[in-house]
Amino acid sequence: MESKGTLAHGFKAKAERLATEFRNKLSLHPCAPMCAFKLAICLEIPVYSAIECLTLKDDIERLSHDCEWSALTMNTNSGATIIIHNPFHSPARQQSNLMHEIAHIICEHKHPMRDYEVAVPVGMRSFNLIQEEEARYLGSALQLPRPALLWAKKRNMTTSEIADYFNASQEMVTYRMNSSGVNKQSYFLKRKRAKTV
Ligand SMILES: [Zn+2]
Repeated sequence: MESKGTLAHGFKAKAERLATEFRNKLSLHPCAPMCAFKLAICLEIPVYSAIECLTLKDDIERLSHDCEWSALTMNTNSGATIIIHNPFHSPARQQSNLMHEIAHIICEHKHPMRDYEVAVPVGMRSFNLIQEEEARYLGSALQLPRPALLWAKKRNMTTSEIADYFNASQEMVTYRMNSSGVNKQSYFLKRKRAKTV
């Protein structure tokens, strides 16, 4: 989940701004957990469980057994943008799956090429990589914004406590602590404090 450095200058700051803006809209504190399902309602994005879309019992059975497939965004015939997600993933993973798809929609990414494995020209492939990188960063920032991470660090919360509190996976907490620079920041603060004592 390491960043490949493909994000445009200013994108990370924009992601943090959006995380605070949406919390404001939902009357939440900038450090508070934000439910992805509630954010989707606020943005008027209909979210469907894949079970609602599958009619064959076998397909549902397959989905329920360790299926890696997480979620997708699609346009309906009537032009609406909807998200379909895997309800068998853990609640924490459902949150990040949904935040990721919402991030694609916020960034107005063109999604048809993303969801299908087709041979695409090299330029197009890197274009898709950038979109994925943006959705990964924005999705995770919506779930765990910098103010929330700093708030948790100040309280000396462990990775698993932070994960529980924000309904995120521990991997996501670690990724965000590193990619947001919060880990580095608190390391330097601690060193500074140690020097002045
Ligand atoms: Zn994606």
